[in-house]
Amino acid sequence: AEGREPRAESAPRLMPEIAIGPSRVTIEPGALDTLGARVRDAAAAHRYAVISDETVAALHGARVLASLADAGLRAELLAFPAGEAHKTRETWGGLTDRMLAAGFGRDSVVVALGGGVVGDLAGFVAATFMRGVPVVQVPTTLLAMIDAAIGGKTGVDTPAGKNLVGAFHQPALVVADPRVLATLPAPQLRSGIAEAIKHGVIADERYFERVVSALPALLAPGAASADATIETMKALVVGSVEIKAGVVARDEREGGVRRTLNFGHTLGHAIETASRYRLLHGEAVAIGMALESELAERAGVAECGTTERVRDAITRAGLPLERPAEQDPHALLALTRGDKKSRRGIVEYALPRRVGAMAGEREGWGVAVDDALVLEVLA
Ligand code: NAD
Repeated sequence: AEGREPRAESAPRLMPEIAIGPSRVTIEPGALDTLGARVRDAAAAHRYAVISDETVAALHGARVLASLADAGLRAELLAFPAGEAHKTRETWGGLTDRMLAAGFGRDSVVVALGGGVVGDLAGFVAATFMRGVPVVQVPTTLLAMIDAAIGGKTGVDTPAGKNLVGAFHQPALVVADPRVLATLPAPQLRSGIAEAIKHGVIADERYFERVVSALPALLAPGAASADATIETMKALVVGSVEIKAGVVARDEREGGVRRTLNFGHTLGHAIETASRYRLLHGEAVAIGMALESELAERAGVAECGTTERVRDAITRAGLPLERPAEQDPHALLALTRGDKKSRRGIVEYALPRRVGAMAGEREGWGVAVDDALVLEVLA
């Protein structure tokens, strides 16, 4: 279905909406300005809590509030300090208390305006507030557009590891406006590109090649706000969302093929946790993908040359390949055991068979790997 926003005839051609279970995803430059009408259609409510971090709130909050007000919606902005360090139960509790104090009731909708931290946190607030109110995801980083806002996972980090407390809560609507990426710092853009590379590796070799060839244009200094860059960005977001949507549609709660999305994330999460979040999520995932490709080749499940292609894409994206030297391989291995992806204490990896296809279909897409091999690769 085409977008339902009323002045469609005067608006630029709308992207077809991508449906993921109950969620509709709109990817369109300028979509932020028509957000109010879209939200009113997809998630009618008495009140709207726009949850954002302070950085995004300062950059894009006023526009979002204006668009909601134009559509006749009653909305308030609740902001918290930016950064992974704030994706905690404490922030979740603080936001929930602020909503309760402000008199939000069951007939409320949460609008998550920001990157993956905001999406996960605000999504978890929505999942639990009054036993659950709808959430609209408005991702503002590339990573959130192609990954975090899609699929319904919400949650917070704990000292024991990332995302260990949370809930599945599918958004009523996802609105991605590639124009907001013009304000995104370059390291954050590259961090999102890591997930786009991952989507290519797990599902679609041609998409992988498209991402690699788009890199020079996307990363050229000063290119971020050019129309051509925004169109390239849109194409990339659409391609990635289609891949993720396809995987999630086949397996909403991660019993099977959804586990392929964890490529690069088992070691990536361990490295990210060990860095105390000094590494960006996508940077840690890039290192994780380089290491896990190597693991796949050494375990004999990946075609020869897979690692080289993955490493080449990561390098071209300006992302790191090596784990921080001070991190201890044994400590990283121990961290992978606390990861949600371990089953009965055995860590199973999502490993590529080649670029564009994953290994382990018969084993439920998880490949058990000897600790010795993991240590060898980490060393
Ligand atoms: P983030 O939300 O911390 O955003 C990165 C930084 O960019 C922040 O400082 C933010 O304020 C700033 N920012 C956001 N949008 C901006 C914009 N348009 N212009 C300028 N600055 C902007 O981090 P992220 O990389 O978007 O997301 C990482 C998080 O997402 C992690 O916590 C990860 O666990 C989570 N995640 C979740 C899923 C999922 O399925 N739920 C998937 C992948 C990642």
